[in-house]
Amino acid sequence: MRVNIQLACTECKRRNYSTSKNKKNTTGRLEVSKYCPFDKKHTVHRETK
Ligand SMILES: [Zn+2]
Repeated sequence: MRVNIQLACTECKRRNYSTSKNKKNTTGRLEVSKYCPFDKKHTVHRETK
């Protein structure tokens, strides 16, 4: 079952990306390194609800 989630930058706390994940394959919080246009660099983006 796939659920929609939002990814928030851990540095500026802005929600820059929305994606979906498979609950069965991904346990716990999803963390992805993505480009943040506000910080103008790649930062860790964490799943948020
Ligand atoms: Zn940021």
